[in-house]
Amino acid sequence: MKQYIKEFDKVVMQTYNRYQLVLDRGEGVYLYDIEGKKYLDFSAGIAVFALGYGNKDYNDALKEQIDKLIHTSNYYYNIPTMEAAKKLVKASGMDRVFFTNSGTEAIEGAIKLARKYYYKKHGKANSEIISMNHSFHGRSMGALSITGTKKYREPFEPLIGGVVFAEYNDLDSVKALIKDNTCAIVLEAVQGEGGIYPASKEFIEGIRKLCDDHDILMIFDEIQCGMGRTGTMFGYQQYQVKPDIITSAKALGCGVPVGAFAATEMVASAMEPGDHGTTYGGNPLVAAAVSKVFDIFEGKQILEHVNDVAPYLTMKLDQLVNKYNFIKERRGIGLMQGLEFTSPVSNIISMAIEEGLILISAGSHTVRFLPPLIIEKEHIDEMVGILEKVFMKTAID
Ligand SMILES: *Cc1c(COP(=O)(O)O)cnc(C)c1O
Repeated sequence: MKQYIKEFDKVVMQTYNRYQLVLDRGEGVYLYDIEGKKYLDFSAGIAVFALGYGNKDYNDALKEQIDKLIHTSNYYYNIPTMEAAKKLVKASGMDRVFFTNSGTEAIEGAIKLARKYYYKKHGKANSEIISMNHSFHGRSMGALSITGTKKYREPFEPLIGGVVFAEYNDLDSVKALIKDNTCAIVLEAVQGEGGIYPASKEFIEGIRKLCDDHDILMIFDEIQCGMGRTGTMFGYQQYQVKPDIITSAKALGCGVPVGAFAATEMVASAMEPGDHGTTYGGNPLVAAAVSKVFDIFEGKQILEHVNDVAPYLTMKLDQLVNKYNFIKERRGIGLMQGLEFTSPVSNIISMAIEEGLILISAGSHTVRFLPPLIIEKEHIDEMVGILEKVFMKTAID
């Protein structure tokens, strides 16, 4: 593996501190490296591989579409894209969809849609977006502009402008930022990269009311917390609200590069021919994947399964919090969980990987648990076993 890593690092841009691991293949909830070593996967390619690796129905649907038609451009109609859109509209409660190639692009589209809606309604531009501190929305200039981590933004300034940041779960801080030209408030139902922070009911419902009172659009970034991860199809469905726009990606295609932004009819109608476009976005190949993902969610009752196993995961994680005084707390909903430690977790994650357990962090002090949604209780036991082994070793050091 060392040789491949050396060769890789010579030709690929150094934008990641990668773990020293060359992965080869996956099977169910396990990954294998090129030397045949097995890893229990509790990150699912960052919440992407919800159905696990090697799902036959999914793979067959893709293979079939590859042989039929991969790409056409968006100047023509095709059936897989229509079917994927119908299923996403139904699951999300939105009316119209635009497919993108990534989460970042979904966010770009949502920003453009919110601005266009304001422009059409008020006959002028220069509207403002309220985003949240510690939020994550992507790395392109627009998505970065609404990402609530200064360290990510600063080297790339000037960004798009017209963005202000409130404190997550602090309704007064949002209220204080509302102006006549506020066009949208954007937030995650559970902050992912920011450290696994679920929104409180009062916060979400309070924002919905502010949006209604001031004619502001409420945008839910469902890229990480959506697609069943919290036990409902979308994170916002944990609360008694309806968004005006949502973004999706990650588990939407379960491995193929696809994202989407979707909106209610009233909002979506602000977009006119020529306002937005993409060459690849939602091509027949990724659409076949999205469509099959929704079918499998229904056929395999994935949401029921998440609600069945998630309480076991939270119970096991709570036991760890009680047992080890270097773990501060557990946060999360469903199969989107975090354990906050009293010190940085990079060492724990590296050691877990050595012991055959793939985890990722969310911020410096939080270990993030994003297993494939098909995880079973026995895998949760296996994960806890490996984690405790790691704790024992770190305590000896
Ligand atoms: C991952 C993520 C994004 C960015 O998606 P990409 O597909 O990496 O561009 C945006 N928002 C949230 C909440 C995410 O977790």
